[in-house]
Amino acid sequence: MAKKKIAVIGIGKIAQDQHLPVIDKSPDFELAACVSTRGLGHRDVPVFRTPAELYKAMPEVKVVAICTPPGVRHAYVRQAIDAGKDVLLEKPPTPTITEFEDLVAYGEKKGRVLFQTWHSRYNAAVDAAKLILKDEGVASVRIDWRESVRKWHPGQEWVWEPGGFGVCDPGINAMSIFTRIMPFPVFVESARLKFPSNRQTPVDVEIVFKSAEKHQPKLSAGFNWLEESGEIWTIAMETRKGTELKLERGGTVLRVDGKETVANPSSEYEAIYERFAKLLKKGKSEMDGSPLRLIGDAFLLGARENVDEFHW
Ligand code: NAP
Repeated sequence: MAKKKIAVIGIGKIAQDQHLPVIDKSPDFELAACVSTRGLGHRDVPVFRTPAELYKAMPEVKVVAICTPPGVRHAYVRQAIDAGKDVLLEKPPTPTITEFEDLVAYGEKKGRVLFQTWHSRYNAAVDAAKLILKDEGVASVRIDWRESVRKWHPGQEWVWEPGGFGVCDPGINAMSIFTRIMPFPVFVESARLKFPSNRQTPVDVEIVFKSAEKHQPKLSAGFNWLEESGEIWTIAMETRKGTELKLERGGTVLRVDGKETVANPSSEYEAIYERFAKLLKKGKSEMDGSPLRLIGDAFLLGARENVDEFHW
């Protein structure tokens, strides 16, 4: 099978760290163009300033990966759908659930394949944890997602603007694992959001979840963006049979009763492009909005607190 020509839109950190190198090695995709408002490219492929210019000049490119911040994604995805493209969307999908649902409906109406990626889900340790929880039930889950905004979003002002998610930008990765592994629906019960007094999005978030389960499992999460000691991306769980599970390093490692049972090097983006190739072959979309819903609910229910100013 010939490789599918794909264009990457938004040549920022994640496009350069993951999408472009992974597409370079992909057996299914061939990079055909870049769209960059700053005119950044990759190897010798053509570069366009806007998606409209790409669509006009290279109609043979039928697939795009949109790697911009979420604020512009709704408009970009609709425009791609109108141009007859199939679309891969980086996370978080859109700043609002209304926009997300519109994209799902519009893609369906126009018969395009849309793929909402949640990169943290593409780990064998996550699948293994899901199976154990399904089998043994859930007594408790504690999520700790702490990292340095200076390391992971260096100088990116959009993360602090309304709709930029703040620390919920990485926190939604934890929610994508949480919603994947839980054997029953979970809801936000309460949340506390700490905002730097000179910024519009939170730097620290604590969430308590509830469920409709009679035994009332204890479920909570904490996100923090000022952790300079290295990443702490862990989900600690206890099953109803008393087994202790711990997903570590963003879902790449699983410990069962302290013993490492799964530890794979991260190849999340390779798996994302494999999945996208399969979806395109089947002509099927995959648009799960559940992590966005939980984060949206935390903002709806959250108590606000102002804390120290943030400066890069
Ligand atoms: P980034 O470095 O700021 O890159 C985003 C790029 O999108 C910009 O460099 C710009 O590229 C383009 N763009 C188009 N319209 C824009 C606008 N209105 N404002 C800002 N940029 C605009 O951000 P990123 O870290 O790559 O994150 C992009 C998305 O990937 C986010 O949704 C993020 O959550 C997700 N993500 C990030 C990471 C990470 O490690 N940072 C990891 C996984 C997922 P041009 O100048 O080329 O147009």
